[in-house]
Amino acid sequence: MERLTPEPAAAVVPKAPGRWQIATVTAIAVETPTVKSFTLALPIWMPHLPGQHYDVRLTAPDGYQAQRSYSIASSPLTSGEIQLTIDRLDDGEVSPWFHDVVEVGDKVEVRGPFAAYFVWSGEQPALLLGGGSGVVPLMAMLRHKRLTAPELEMRLIYSVRLATDVIYAAELAAGEETQLTYTRVPPPGWEGHSGRVDAAMIAASGVDPARGTAFACGSNGFVESASRLLLDAGFAPERIKTERYGPTG
Ligand SMILES: Cc1cc2nc3c(=O)[nH]c(=O)nc-3n(C[C@H](O)[C@H](O)[C@H](O)COP(=O)(O)OP(=O)(O)OC[C@H]3O[C@@H](n4cnc5c(N)ncnc54)[C@H](O)[C@@H]3O)c2cc1C
Repeated sequence: MERLTPEPAAAVVPKAPGRWQIATVTAIAVETPTVKSFTLALPIWMPHLPGQHYDVRLTAPDGYQAQRSYSIASSPLTSGEIQLTIDRLDDGEVSPWFHDVVEVGDKVEVRGPFAAYFVWSGEQPALLLGGGSGVVPLMAMLRHKRLTAPELEMRLIYSVRLATDVIYAAELAAGEETQLTYTRVPPPGWEGHSGRVDAAMIAASGVDPARGTAFACGSNGFVESASRLLLDAGFAPERIKTERYGPTG
């Protein structure tokens, strides 16, 4: 049972992980027709590791609760706030609420940051493989790399269905790190890769499997296929880190 009395002032510094807190939505950006980014100001902020996530909890008036995890898209250098990027699933409980109900100024219950495994230390070269909204934690890595170690080798292979599905499109286009592939319809005049991520794309990334760490995030199918390709390309299992978002995709 949560204590209802206030804690003694300055006796203990409250630690964010595991402790629910009320964040305030300070900005909402439309990324694609089905994806929005939400900037949240946190009363108890702590720097995260790129790749970590927060839990979000919604409570209905009758007490029913729904809880989901969302990766942090922002660099830990954005002090006091985090950005979450959420794909709207039509038959979902939580993601449509974010898209259809949440406005700037609203309060959202969150806790985090969590995860110790799917994190980029900020030092090693990296090959990032994202499918759909699986690009979100990889964007935190890429943003942090651009801010802290622009010369470090980091490549992003990003698989989307259509040109309109590219999240962070302008920001990704502003750098040289990204190789896009379109699995359904490429944009007119596209001369890059089309279809699923394959061995040629991994080889073209130029990331040395002996030196780099690979991070793959997306649906189960995407992550399984990416893991096989990475093993075939010579990445040792301990150099392949994966995060799965949902049962389908
Ligand atoms: C560590 C972690 C980090 C995550 N980070 C992000 C993120 O950054 N952005 C983001 O958009 N999502 C992310 N997810 C997925 C997120 O937690 C939810 O599962 C997703 O938003 C669906 O929740 P919902 O309540 O809208 O749908 P639900 O009510 O949970 O599900 C509705 C329907 O969609 C199916 N479904 C559930 N999840 C998915 C999915 N991911 N893809 C396809 N179908 C699904 C269900 O089987 C069901 O049929 C993350 C998941 C994990 C475990």
